[in-house]
Amino acid sequence: MPRQTEDGPIEYGGVSRETPVQTPRSTVATFGAGVVLRPTAGYEDTPIRAAAARATRIRHPDGASLPRPAQRRVITVANQKGGVGKTTTAVNLAAALALHQLTVLVVDLDPQGNASTALGVPHDSGTPSIYEVLLDELPLRSAIQESTHSDKLLCVPATIDLAGAEIELVSLVSREARLKRALDDKVLDELGVDLVLIDCPPSLGLLTVNALVAAEEVLIPIQCEYYALEGLGQLLRNIELVQAHLNPELHVSTILLTMYDGRTKLADQVAEEVRSHFGEVVLRTMIPRSVKVSEAPGYGQTVLAYDPGSRGAMSYLDAGREFALRGDITVKRSISEQGVQR
Ligand code: ATP
Ligand code: MG
Repeated sequence: MPRQTEDGPIEYGGVSRETPVQTPRSTVATFGAGVVLRPTAGYEDTPIRAAAARATRIRHPDGASLPRPAQRRVITVANQKGGVGKTTTAVNLAAALALHQLTVLVVDLDPQGNASTALGVPHDSGTPSIYEVLLDELPLRSAIQESTHSDKLLCVPATIDLAGAEIELVSLVSREARLKRALDDKVLDELGVDLVLIDCPPSLGLLTVNALVAAEEVLIPIQCEYYALEGLGQLLRNIELVQAHLNPELHVSTILLTMYDGRTKLADQVAEEVRSHFGEVVLRTMIPRSVKVSEAPGYGQTVLAYDPGSRGAMSYLDAGREFALRGDITVKRSISEQGVQR
């Protein structure tokens, strides 16, 4: 008997028929090169058809473009806790916004280079990267690459060389503001960049401080797990310090709940607690725990490219829409005024 899987597709004898067959790092599977299948009446009457219809809607959003922000938004995706979904959020949110005609630059500021991998951007040692840009060895323009998925999705990759940057930056002039200086408005204007998303490493070191100085907004992904809120106070204190001394415009504009598992009470409790602490800053959309989301980077893809009909893809698409449509709702306030408990 076929059975429903976590992500919605029906499995026949262990093989999901929903997912297009792919080899690692292959190009995005297409639905008949340029052929757009429009759902007809009754089209979504089975789970497979419903998923296919969702995939078609994602791939061809009918020109549903999102409003361009009045001013370019620079957002740092930060949480010093490891593995909470920072990179997954940075790349998939960027992909969702790019699908809606916004031009997004992802700056990979983590020596692990996970964001570069997920965007299908080469990042072997020696590739022009954020490392050379931070050290003033290369201009920003020469390190920007187009993602294989979209010409609206740009990336400054990180190579393993960045691992040494925490130490090398220490002795440099204005070491905390290197990234801010590097994000050249003229270059970003020429490329028509609407949003910059900076993917931070899991630490509060000099790289993360650079990201906090370069941005106005902080997006904190919070995993719906026990311990999720532990360590958050330290992140918020750091944000407050940067706000007080280096970047008065900085504020937490967005919190996204990730890896939500609706089958557990714990996930609901964490979500409720986060909402009661942070209020309006928390996006209504939550990202479910989904196998497709975790598989996608292995193919050098975002989940929107890897399996556009999956729940993971849909939720990042929804999160992107919500994020863009509500804009930066937070007026600049101190972190404690934002209702944050520590
Ligand atoms: P790090 O701190 O190491 O940079 P991170 O905060 O960037 O980690 P990710 O790399 O995005 O976290 O995610 C950690 C792991 O969890 C990855 O293997 C990723 O594929 C997986 N993951 C992220 N989001 C989901 C999800 N919604 N469902 C299932 N797996 C997920
Ligand atoms: Mg990461």
